[in-house]
This record gives sequence, C-alpha cells and structure tokens, in this order.
Amino acid sequence: MDKNKTMPKQKRIALVAHDKKKMDLLEWVLFNEGSLSEHILYATGTTGSIIEKHTKLKVYKLQSGPLGGDLQIGAMITEKQLDILFFFWDPLEPQPHDPDIKALLRIAMVWNIPVACNRSTADFLISSPLFKSEYEPIVPEYMIFKQPRNN
Ligand code: PGA
Repeated sequence: MDKNKTMPKQKRIALVAHDKKKMDLLEWVLFNEGSLSEHILYATGTTGSIIEKHTKLKVYKLQSGPLGGDLQIGAMITEKQLDILFFFWDPLEPQPHDPDIKALLRIAMVWNIPVACNRSTADFLISSPLFKSEYEPIVPEYMIFKQPRNN
C-alpha cells in the first residue's frame, strides 16, 4: 500500500541549473526571492554560489553537479529529505555527467517529487497554493521490491 507523508509548509527545495541555464534560474530566483526565503534551500555547488552572491538567500551548497552534486540530491530524495526540485537542465548542450542527470530525474519520478525543468513550470509550481501549505503526496512504498526473492 502507498503511504502519505505530509509535506510541511516549509519545503526543502533543491535548485540546480546547467551553465547556460544559470542566468535563467538566477532571474527566476531573484523574482521569487521573497517566496523562496520562507523555505529551506539546497543547490549544487556553482548554482548555489551564484544564488548566494546575487541574493540574500541562505543556500546549503552541495558538490558541483559534475562532481556528484546531482547524485547527492538524488540521495536526499531517496532518504525523504527533499520535497521539491527545480532543475533547469540544458537540452542543447552535452554534459559530462549525463548519467547523473538521468539518475536524478529518474529518482525524482520514482519518489513522486514535484520537478520543474523550465521557467514556465517553475512559475506554475511556485504560484500553486500547495507551495506554501501542507500537502500530502502519495509516497510509493514499492512493496514488490521488498519481497524476498526466490532466486
Ligand atoms: P553546478 O552543477 O551548479 O555545480 O554547476 C549543476 C549541474 O551541472 O548539474
């Protein structure tokens, strides 16, 4: 059976942007600085440094994406330590850490995490009443993967 675990009003949010999307994310963060300041923010290394340099937001910085930052965020999702992901990935540039990017996007789907990959979706997400209220997502338990195996 799937379980509901209440997402609190104060969300744990990860912000990640590929290099050519960093200004896009920064503009969006600046526009939404007031709303974001009410939540707990995490970011991959370079994205986090840029946000801290240009805003008054406190950001917990993880490793840079190519050095494992995406995987750290994926692990946080798996450990139920993250509620929302804003991930402005670049569809027009190859990335050295492509497997990590796919892993992060995949694990966010596995655990039913809200993900915004572009500004329009980010606008819709942050303007949702659920963004600043409690929410009960369906958290899959995946019992089938927890059964003892016969082989
Ligand atoms: P960065 O990582 O914020 O350290 O640049 C983002 C990424 O490339 O995934």
